[in-house]
Amino acid sequence: SLPPIQNRTMARVRLENIKRKFNNVTAIEDISFDIPDGEFWVLVGPSGCGKSTILRTIAGLETATSGRLYIGDELINDVPARQRDVAMVFQNYALYPHMTVAENIAFGLRMRKVDPKMIKERVVAVARSLSLEHLLERKPKQLSGGQQQRVALGRAIARQPQVFLLDEPLSNLDAQLRDDTRAELKELHQNLGVTTIYVTHDQVEAMTLADKIVVLERGRIQQIGEPQTIYAKPANRMVATFLGSPPMNIFPARYVGEGFDVNGQTILASAKMKEKLHLREGQGFDLGIRPEHIYIINEPQRTQRTQREELAELVVDVKVVEPLGRETLIRAALPGSGVMVNVQAGADVHPHPGDRLLLELDLSKLFVFDTATGDRLY
Ligand code: ATP
Repeated sequence: SLPPIQNRTMARVRLENIKRKFNNVTAIEDISFDIPDGEFWVLVGPSGCGKSTILRTIAGLETATSGRLYIGDELINDVPARQRDVAMVFQNYALYPHMTVAENIAFGLRMRKVDPKMIKERVVAVARSLSLEHLLERKPKQLSGGQQQRVALGRAIARQPQVFLLDEPLSNLDAQLRDDTRAELKELHQNLGVTTIYVTHDQVEAMTLADKIVVLERGRIQQIGEPQTIYAKPANRMVATFLGSPPMNIFPARYVGEGFDVNGQTILASAKMKEKLHLREGQGFDLGIRPEHIYIINEPQRTQRTQREELAELVVDVKVVEPLGRETLIRAALPGSGVMVNVQAGADVHPHPGDRLLLELDLSKLFVFDTATGDRLY
């Protein structure tokens, strides 16, 4: 593995009230965060949420309309891109086609007139860390997509920047290669310890790579937190449904009597919920529960884990069954409605389309969202 970068300066990255407008389109709206030196942060969100614009602003490829941007203690709003000590890797890796792999990796160092002997050593070390040693003399068009992407990463690593900016670097790779390269990236970061900001719309990449995740929607931060925290305690419905695959189930519901009416079926409200939510008769909510917290009755090994009083029952009609080997995904619907229910069941469970199933919901894992704002209330 690569030795850690010597004499590195501290590279905390700080955004204060950054805003970016394109004519009348607000791409990013009042973004503030503070990344401690050496951490790996992932910006996620649906297409158009402003992730790339934030990254390009940090790189100096975009100018903020307002706000302050710091690397270390330096205000860099007016520092040109090439004088910012950052290396950016894009989705379409943009290698120099006429140069060999070795020359591509060495390019940034040559530009800085680093001693040729040091360049050579560095290129070999970087190539070894990315399993590219045997390809050093090839040209980019003689490489697979995954190999090209590793060269692009190598070129960034070789420069020893203070900050890595990665914009969907794995999205052009096929599934297996993407998984492998993702693990390599994580190991590289563990070894190098360079502050990294990584943009993706892939929630698996976000969950597995991040020290902290920043969830964005329509140019605004929805939540910042550690992956597990965001998963277990999403701030709102958007975050809740964005992270997790299959996504969290959302049921429109109304509080009636002692529980929530979900399309004619009742999910009793726990004492804790009643206390916290000040429930009013007729009040509407969105209930949320993850597919792994729904059990099929008669699937004993799962049901036993949960106390009976913490379970609610729901009847559904099976639509599609997807055996995945390790587990079975069941896509079902509440009878007589279009409300879908995704269930993650054991590998040995194989219902048929059209079957009616009785489900148990783990009430301790039930979320309640404000229907209008989407904020999590419980
Ligand atoms: P994707 O995942 O699709 O790449 P993103 O989250 O990276 O999306 P951005 O590329 O940052 O989103 O774009 C944010 C918003 O700003 C979008 O509405 C986009 O159309 C707009 N936008 C981005 N660049 C420009 C530009 N140069 N001119 C006008 N509008 C722009």
